[in-house]
This record gives sequence, structure tokens and C-alpha cells, in this order.
Amino acid sequence: MEHASSDTRFRERLDELDPSHLRPLCKTLFAQLQRAKGLEGFAYLDGHDLISIDGTGYFSSQTIHCAQCAEKHHRNGTTTYYHQMLGAVLVHPDCAEVFPLVPEPILKPDGARKNDWESNAAKRLLTDLRREHPHLKLIVVEDALASNGPHIRHLQALDLPFILGAKPSDHAFLFDWVAASAHTAEASFDEEKGFRHRFRDLNGVPLNHANFDLEMNFLEYREHAPDGSITHFSWVTDLLVEDSNLMTLMRGARARWKIENETFNTLETKAITSSTTSVTANSISAPCSCT
Ligand SMILES: [Zn+2]
Repeated sequence: MEHASSDTRFRERLDELDPSHLRPLCKTLFAQLQRAKGLEGFAYLDGHDLISIDGTGYFSSQTIHCAQCAEKHHRNGTTTYYHQMLGAVLVHPDCAEVFPLVPEPILKPDGARKNDWESNAAKRLLTDLRREHPHLKLIVVEDALASNGPHIRHLQALDLPFILGAKPSDHAFLFDWVAASAHTAEASFDEEKGFRHRFRDLNGVPLNHANFDLEMNFLEYREHAPDGSITHFSWVTDLLVEDSNLMTLMRGARARWKIENETFNTLETKAITSSTTSVTANSISAPCSCT
């Protein structure tokens, strides 16, 4: 071959392919990464790596579409056709590098309601991940859409510990329980740079009325910045929350954003072929340099 095909040509060829055919290739790359100790320094807690899972769009057009496209009908009569996927990326709070694993397409025929599309894609992603990596020790971090009974039970069945977002608006029962409990603990740490980290936590809180048996450990966090601004987060986890791991759990949960900043945005702002190549090359040649 004298010339590599153009990316348009590659896309035309790949469009015909069922994404599942790419799984063995990705598994081989991941095995090489492990053998080359590319994940050294990535262990986050008790030998577990952190995996961030989130949805993103990768195609959108008002003119080009296929039978599998999701559609958004606008008031002015036009239609946007789009495709989305769930990404799964190994992240670490201290490392700029991320390692994407096989993404899962979010498909329209997955269910009548739009929420079903994403939760069914998550089911497939996690089941495939566990089948392909039965011994990989992982802690899953996801946004508040994931903190629902069926998803949490699926994570538990696959032996995947988790830290998931929890919003007062979606989890009123849980927040009321925490507010009413006499055992809710509070802690505060000051950092040299002028940041104050304030925590409120309680272990063994029912997720909601419908899943009363599903006991979560609750962690709420407020970051007071030197300029007076306050950022608020709250999570549920099956990891025991203790005074000694408050900062670690908070930093792990916030590393979730690396799937947006270091993965999806990188893929969007660079040509998709070149960025994927560079991520893979980096990950194999150099272990994490941040530790
Ligand atoms: Zn399409």
C-alpha cells in the first residue's frame, strides 16, 4: 500500500461494521497496556482503579441520517439526527492521562423512553466489561442519573463498587433521612492554599422509599474557595465512609470529570483518528507520570 486511506474513506468502511467487532482489538490493546505496566500509579483505593462512565454525542446532523439515528424534532419543523455513546474511561485524581475502554452505542430501539436508551446501554457496557475483564478491580464513578435501584443492583451483581452522584432534587428521601439522623457526622479540613473542605456523611441510608433495602453510604461535600465561592457535591457509595477517607473519596468522585475534560473534549477538538492514536501511544509507552 503506497498511501493510507483518507479518514473519510476509513469512516465509510467503519460505518458498515458492527462496533462489537472492534472489541477483541481493544481487549488486546488493554492487555498490552497492562503487560507494559502502563497502569502503574493508577491504583486509587485498595488496589482498585477508578472507571468513569458517562454519555456523549459523537454525531449530529440536520441532513445526514440513518435508520439507527435518534431524532430531535424542533418547533420550527426541522429535525436533528444524532448518535450517542457511553464512554468508559480509567481515570485517577492525580493523573492527567486517561485510558478509554470500549464505548457502548446508545441505541434508539433500546426502549420507549429516552432514559431507557442510556440505562440499557450501561447494562451492556458493564456486563461486557466484567466478562472481558473478570479480575479487574474497579470502582465505578458516575453522575446522579446512575443512582437508581436497578443500576445499583446491577453494579453489585457484577462486584463493582461505586461512587455515584446524588442530587437533593432526585433523592429527597435520602437527604431527609440524613438531615433527621442523630448519627450524621461533620468534618472540616483547611488547606494551605486557603481552601476549606467541609463534609457531612452517614453510612447505611436507604436509597429511597422504593429501594428501602438498598443501604447507601452518603457523602456530602462543600468546597469553600479563597474567593468566597462555595461548590457543592453529594454522592452515594457502597464504600464505607470514614473520617480517614473523606478526602480520598471526594477526590475520586471528582475525577469523574476527566471523562469530559480529558476524553470527550479531546476527541471533539482534535481529529478523531489522530487523538485516538496519541492516547493509545502514550498509554503504552509511558506509565502515568504524575505519581
Ligand atoms: Zn444514524
